[in-house]
Amino acid sequence: MITLHEVYEQGSDDVKAAVRSFGARHLIPGVAPDEPDWKRAEQHFTYLIEVIMGAAAPLPAGTTDIVRRAEQEAIGFLLAVDLHTDYRCPICVKQGFLR
Ligand SMILES: [Zn+2]
Repeated sequence: MITLHEVYEQGSDDVKAAVRSFGARHLIPGVAPDEPDWKRAEQHFTYLIEVIMGAAAPLPAGTTDIVRRAEQEAIGFLLAVDLHTDYRCPICVKQGFLR
């Protein structure tokens, strides 16, 4: 599965901006208020792909296509939410993280 870092490396300027913005949703208040917690951001990007893939388990043959499509969807999601300056990472919301 693609990592957030790979998405950044391979992405266009828009994608890079969206990845930075997603990282910025993962600050650690009081500890590293200016530096994104990339480990958590990575984790949440992976969860996001898994959520998009849905409960399609057990995955049938042709899984690669499903994963690739989910990865594209996840990148599309980052680009879409990046238009909203005050969005919150849905995985953080789900896990009850406070910004
Ligand atoms: Zn998150």
